[in-house]
Amino acid sequence: MPALSAAQLLSVWEHGALRHPLDRALLLFAVAEPGLAPDALADAPLGACNAALMRLRRDCFGAAIPAWTDCPACGERMSFELDLAQLPAMTPVPDVVEVEGHRFRCPGARQLAALADCPDADEAARRLLLSCIADEAQAPADNAMLDQLLVHAEHAIEAADPWADLAVDYQCPACGHAGEAAFDIASYLWEEIEAHAGRLLDEVHLLASSYGWREDEILALGDVRRAAYLARVTP
Ligand SMILES: [Zn+2]
Repeated sequence: MPALSAAQLLSVWEHGALRHPLDRALLLFAVAEPGLAPDALADAPLGACNAALMRLRRDCFGAAIPAWTDCPACGERMSFELDLAQLPAMTPVPDVVEVEGHRFRCPGARQLAALADCPDADEAARRLLLSCIADEAQAPADNAMLDQLLVHAEHAIEAADPWADLAVDYQCPACGHAGEAAFDIASYLWEEIEAHAGRLLDEVHLLASSYGWREDEILALGDVRRAAYLARVTP
């Protein structure tokens, strides 16, 4: 785990445990990009956040990404290893995307968070597009014009920031159904951090109970030495 020490991982887990998934993604983004200010993190395109989280994930847990999805046609569980070559290249996201004379920024966490209370998907799509307008003077005059722009603008923004919404192709070996499964790196990485933190807490509990050491002393042990002591106290 070169990217995060045991103590740092537990701290990230503690800070993120009670947060909304969007805030957790921002917390992980801040860990991955410690030089960026909070505003820059919230305004960065979603794809830039996801790419940073993928790099953090690789540094913490390695390049192999075991994944699974259930076939929506027959229910078969498909386990596979996510192949990064299947995903779009990590290219820089342009500052603005021009669609039919209007200029848009690719949305970031701040724009998504502003939609949290919007129950209607169409209205959310409109609001999201409005929040992405780079030049207020060029904003669509009314909802009809906005709706006309919506599909083209969504496609253009998706093409400009392909890492914003990752998906992998699959074909079910049981029934042959082919489809696309969403891959949310933020929730995937969070589940791994949660599982790892749980194991670390178990280890601290066992070693503290056996030797009377403090948590910081136990976490400061390297993985190999901690495992060696655990082997001596585990029946
Ligand atoms: Zn199937």
